Amino acid sequence: MPEYIPTIGLEIHVELKTETKMFCDSPNNPEEKNPNTNVCPVCLGHPGTLPTINKKAVEAVIKVGMALGGEINKFTKFDRKNYFYPDLPKGYQISQYDQPLVIGGSLNGVKLRRVHLEEDTGRLLHDPSGEGSLVDYNRAGVPLMELVTEPEIKSAEEAVSFAKELQLILRYLGVSTADMERGQMRVEVNISLGKWSKGNWKQGTKVEIKNLNSFSAVSGSIEYETKRQAEVMKTGKVKHETRGWDDVKHVTVSQRSKEEAHDYRYFPEPDLPPLETESLNPEALKISLPELPGDKRERFKKEYNLEGSKLESLIIDQDLAEFFEESVSEIKEFDSNSSHQTLFNYLTSDLVGLIKESGTSFKELKVKPEHLAHLSFLIDSGRIGSRQAKDVLRKMFETGADPEEIIKSENLENISDESELETVIKKIIEANPVAVGDYKKGKTASVQFLVGKAMAELRGRGNPEKLKEIFVRLLT
Ligand code: ADP
Ligand code: MG
Repeated sequence: MPEYIPTIGLEIHVELKTETKMFCDSPNNPEEKNPNTNVCPVCLGHPGTLPTINKKAVEAVIKVGMALGGEINKFTKFDRKNYFYPDLPKGYQISQYDQPLVIGGSLNGVKLRRVHLEEDTGRLLHDPSGEGSLVDYNRAGVPLMELVTEPEIKSAEEAVSFAKELQLILRYLGVSTADMERGQMRVEVNISLGKWSKGNWKQGTKVEIKNLNSFSAVSGSIEYETKRQAEVMKTGKVKHETRGWDDVKHVTVSQRSKEEAHDYRYFPEPDLPPLETESLNPEALKISLPELPGDKRERFKKEYNLEGSKLESLIIDQDLAEFFEESVSEIKEFDSNSSHQTLFNYLTSDLVGLIKESGTSFKELKVKPEHLAHLSFLIDSGRIGSRQAKDVLRKMFETGADPEEIIKSENLENISDESELETVIKKIIEANPVAVGDYKKGKTASVQFLVGKAMAELRGRGNPEKLKEIFVRLLT
């Protein structure tokens, strides 16, 4: 029997990071804990109030459109999408129907249909004992961007990597925090199965899955639906419906039959003028775009010879990538032949570890790029060992001091004075006759044991290569 092939299209909602809401000047603050604080007559839908367009939100969507190679619609307008639900105070949502801000574009090889702007709904809190529901309108009217792809995605992995790359671009552009767990980026999966039958493509009915608030939910729901729909199609037809994802049972569950566009009675929003995007100076917005993840990846590959997970560990964070570049450019001040390998390791594992451990961010970092470059040079040139390096970095992190000052004041520099090292080594040779005997009988590996002993005696302040060299000289 021919295999069913999944066809997937995504609809992704993104809360934009603006000072104020989409159509009024109530604060847009996702951190607000007190319900119904960031509200006003406009976002509460009081009769007689009028909306005004948030220019920053429009600019944010235009930037996204540009970053994704879409066409910025010269003429756009807003429309009312009518439906009745307690989280929607006006009884309609202002959205865009037939003239979205952005048309087309692509990401990860997937074509985009459109990107438009609308407003978020409030939040309903249901009493688990069934006593009733409460509504918080802090989120009502928050600018919400919606991106719709063409149905060109073929697997869960493709869907997840699409969503991850979009998240990264949104963060680079600074238009959204795009945290899925906090509902700032919400993915809806549309999925249908199809198969070739006697030379004809037979397309099954699509199902929409909502409430996906993590990447693993996106992938889990696609895997689950692929199996479920194939099972249904053995004997019958898949129902055109909206399903939700149960994060505990790892299954999708039927929520409601799918509404059609005409159910919403879309019509142009009479309280807002049409928008001509030329008036927002799109050329200036284009110039303001940062280097995007895709371009940075290509450049880092070429300039720093990085790839795979090493490359990604920098690309994932704009500030980290910038710090890396600044530090690398400082290495030459110390040694023109030095590579950036050591610097990369101390930056992406140790320094990032310290930042995470302390709960701070790159913006608050006291370590200066030239100091990290200096540390990397001190390690590469053998003046300090890896054990000291970790201590020095921690001090640098705490105080912002130069590593040279730290190793001087804390007396951490490796001992390089030959006679001083010989004294220690002679002492070790005397105290370890068995290992020495083994070595002399040809068990050359036992020199490592002796080096270890010497390192301990020196409290780590020795260069292992150098110590080994002296042992070998004294024992032969
Ligand atoms: P609707 O009118 O039901 O909202 P649309 O054609 O507007 O459907 O598409 C909504 C989403 O569904 C888009 O992301 C699109 O890529 C996706 N989609 C459309 N057709 C299919 C299909 N046959 N299988 C899977 N996804 C699809
Ligand atoms: Mg839709």
